Amino acid sequence: MNEINGISASPGIAIGQAFLYLDDTPTIPRYKIEEWQIANEFERFTIAVDKALTELRGLQNDENGGEANQHELLDSHVLMLSDPELSSSIDARLRKNRLNVEWVLYRFIQEQTEKLQRAEDQYLRERTVDIHDVAKRVLNHLMFRERISLADLTQEVVLVAHELMPSDAIAMNKRMVKGIALDAGGKTSHTAILARAFEIPAVLGLSRISKLVSTGDEIIVDGNRGRVITHPDEKAKKRYVRVQREWRQREVELMGLNELPAETQDGKLLALKANIEVPEEVDALASHGADGVGLYRSEFLFLRGRGLPSENEQYQAYSQVLTALGDKPVTIRTLDLGGDKIAPVLGGFSEQNPILGWRAIRFCLTRVDLFKIQLRALLRASLHGDLRIMFPMISGVEELNRAYEILEEVKTELRSAGVEFREQIPVGIMIEVPSAAMTADILAHKVDFFSIGTNDLIQYTIAVDRGNEKIAYLYEPFHPGVLRLLKSVVDNAHEVGIPVGMCGEMAGDPLATVILLGLGIDEFSMSSVGIPEVKRIIRSVTVSEAEELFGTVMEMRSYQEVDTFVADVMQKRFDVKVY
Ligand code: PEP
Ligand code: MG
Repeated sequence: MNEINGISASPGIAIGQAFLYLDDTPTIPRYKIEEWQIANEFERFTIAVDKALTELRGLQNDENGGEANQHELLDSHVLMLSDPELSSSIDARLRKNRLNVEWVLYRFIQEQTEKLQRAEDQYLRERTVDIHDVAKRVLNHLMFRERISLADLTQEVVLVAHELMPSDAIAMNKRMVKGIALDAGGKTSHTAILARAFEIPAVLGLSRISKLVSTGDEIIVDGNRGRVITHPDEKAKKRYVRVQREWRQREVELMGLNELPAETQDGKLLALKANIEVPEEVDALASHGADGVGLYRSEFLFLRGRGLPSENEQYQAYSQVLTALGDKPVTIRTLDLGGDKIAPVLGGFSEQNPILGWRAIRFCLTRVDLFKIQLRALLRASLHGDLRIMFPMISGVEELNRAYEILEEVKTELRSAGVEFREQIPVGIMIEVPSAAMTADILAHKVDFFSIGTNDLIQYTIAVDRGNEKIAYLYEPFHPGVLRLLKSVVDNAHEVGIPVGMCGEMAGDPLATVILLGLGIDEFSMSSVGIPEVKRIIRSVTVSEAEELFGTVMEMRSYQEVDTFVADVMQKRFDVKVY
């Protein structure tokens, strides 16, 4: 038995068998071949292609073939592999380069994708992902690798991996993944956020768990304490079965609050809303007592499945959420792609510094074609509920002005086409870039609301990558620098008379609830699983007590001092569990 400490990323206990998910990008061997080997290499290629074709045809015949566009996609893969041009190009290159066929195929694919990426036509550019997929299938056969997809899991497992991309997490078969243990990642990485959204206990930042565990090993994930137990003995298993039962019991008790308002002892009513990533999450909102959706991360539509979501697909997704929420407000954030949210469908973009790079509103303001499609879908969906539109990663007025201009253009286009939409849709921005926080007084005049994205705001303020486990100790929501910045955003917004919400993970941290209330946050938005506990705390405090505690904290000089003080108060006075 071995106990390994990591970062608690999603609460709860999972006990089960490990499934080791290895990065499925194979390392391609490269070696010289003799002339007499050419025919042999070519034969290996044709056999691998045949196997890939058989596999694809099997998928085509599979009645549960999945999404509607799946068949079209499989057809296009079959066509690519059956193209005689492909085999003649490989044959010619084998003769010319005298290198092994895996390498020849790999280089050929690279050249083709580079060519496509330069294409004017967006449709052609987007085909690069299909070429990679098809090539990977053939390469796997050439290299005798099993192709494993997390979407195909048929047994309950605890997923163990070095790293899990948000696109993997969104595609996995959630019903079968009972727990997650990863070498990499931090508490506010998007994989952690998804684990919480799907209520899957998760521990990240375990450094070497993928080296210590094999598929089939017994493993316990303690998402509360941020600990993983490998090869547990009988005593440990019994203890964790008991902890799991108690944890579930507490959850059920807290759910009893779902009909009650988030009202302080002295009568201040707060809005507790949910963050969602996929429309299916709306089912969990009522049972957790959410007052609406405070953040719908629309970019996940681009990370799941295949193909760019069309205007109609987006319209359906947004309408589904708005309809389900009835008259409760729904804030949909426009695309925040980039950073760690790389959409395979856009071919992936390689950047030196993606977190500071071409993401969110920056991406949308250059890919106006995609942005307009999304805005059209949003405006059309606005007829189905109380929609608010929110722009991510705004760093200053220029970006905001441009985003408004495009929104107005889309409205004009819809009006002239006779398409109906709600004329009065509130528009807000995320405050998650320090320059926006520092110019909140200017920005506040131009929007209907702010929502503070602490995940990024802390990352950029302390210069600490939110997904990097090695420096996770620096990621400190109670850093005096962060607290001062938050205070000035709230004060500036209130001065102008607009509400300030918070939708970063700090809003769902029970240790922060009273401090945020004292700070003046009007609305908290979090993974729905966190709502009941935050509501319990709010219902047991007065605003004046919260303001006093916040005042005390603002006098402190280091985050360590604040952490110790807050943990003590929250544990003793508010019965918050501190692990
Ligand atoms: C944030 O940055 O706090 C936020 C809510 O957005 P995301 O986590 O999607 O970057
Ligand atoms: Mg963000």
